[in-house]
Amino acid sequence: MRKVVIIFLFLILAFSLFFFYSGEFAVETSAQEPNVVPENIDNDENDAVPAQNFEDNKEEEEEAEKPEIVIPISGTESYYENVDVVDNPDDILVLANKKNVLLSDYVPKDLVKLPVFAPGRLEEVQYMREEAATAIMELYNAALEEAGLEIMPTSAYRSFKLQTTIFQNNINSKGSIAKANETSALPGQSEHQTGLAVDMSCKSVGYQVTSRFDGTEEAKWLAENAHRFGFIIRYQKGKTDITGYSYEPWHVRYVGKDAAEYIFKNELTFEEYLEE
Ligand SMILES: [Zn+2]
Repeated sequence: MRKVVIIFLFLILAFSLFFFYSGEFAVETSAQEPNVVPENIDNDENDAVPAQNFEDNKEEEEEAEKPEIVIPISGTESYYENVDVVDNPDDILVLANKKNVLLSDYVPKDLVKLPVFAPGRLEEVQYMREEAATAIMELYNAALEEAGLEIMPTSAYRSFKLQTTIFQNNINSKGSIAKANETSALPGQSEHQTGLAVDMSCKSVGYQVTSRFDGTEEAKWLAENAHRFGFIIRYQKGKTDITGYSYEPWHVRYVGKDAAEYIFKNELTFEEYLEE
């Protein structure tokens, strides 16, 4: 009988010890958890960069770029939706249009002032990138020597800020953003910001950028010869659905001689050329 009691007491002691330690264990575990969780979070954060694949990193870069698109004119927000940010603004073949937008702080590094320019123009619009400036002067001189025509630059490089002023003025004069955007580019969407585009005109139309330029001897010579100097008539007749703009016989864009000749001979738009 005594043996039974001792065994019984021993069992009670054993169970007590078991529950005591397992209880303590549980307390310890729950006491540690608050420490464990932050540690894990820290580890996740530290691991995050190396653990992520390239796609995730790309997404991060895109997210970092997107906010840089500045929308300078209220009401034009929708015109910057679903656009790409131009990632090669210094490329001679850069594409800037309604779908490919230059950042507001992009300024070409090699702008030089054109030695001839239409009278009465702002100083700041008289610059082009060096290569394009050299080429437009070759074109100017050739027109003069070969045909006795003076085809005059009237508006070349335009900053994002100046384009904002110009577009705002066009909204005011044309009555709506949509109407203004038929012939005038929104800030960031203008080729003039690349330093590779220039509007040409002539004395007989008062050096104006006007539809009256079309049909002049100068416009005809420009259309037939611009490619020889690396330029294209950027916004051709009947191509609005591709270029996004109405016919502009005055707006030439420097793309280099090879591209210009190919585009001219195959009657392409710049957009079509880049897709080939
Ligand atoms: Zn232009």
